[in-house]
Amino acid sequence: MSDCLFCKIGGGEIPVGKVHDDGEIFAIRDINPQAPVHILVIPHRHIATILDFSPQDHALVGRIYDVAARIACEQGFDRNGYRVVANCNSDAGQTVFHVHFHLLAGRAMQWPPG
Ligand code: AMP
Ligand code: ZN
Repeated sequence: MSDCLFCKIGGGEIPVGKVHDDGEIFAIRDINPQAPVHILVIPHRHIATILDFSPQDHALVGRIYDVAARIACEQGFDRNGYRVVANCNSDAGQTVFHVHFHLLAGRAMQWPPG
């Protein structure tokens, strides 16, 4: 999608150092981190919200969690833990309408989240 921030970052139009890119899923550091480690795991394909996943995307969603787990393990958070969260629409605070999963780690998290 031409006017989408994460399509532009994924496609290299906006240059950002990627933590991961396998052609289907990429990961970048969040520009406004909410934890010592805050990484966004993002499919290259433009999908606006998690409501827009279709049954054909189930494997993609699984792979997103695999990528998040791999990054968390690589960075040493498998033991202490980490959080993966996706915001959907306004009440959850979604601001970028290209699906992304927040990987948060490096501090104890609160529950329930704010
Ligand atoms: P959400 O509010 O769930 O839609 O998450 C969007 C996230 O994208 C926020 O945590 C922002 O800080 C982050 N963000 C916005 N612009 C950029 C950017 N240029 N590079 C990296 N992260 C960004
Ligand atoms: Zn997009």
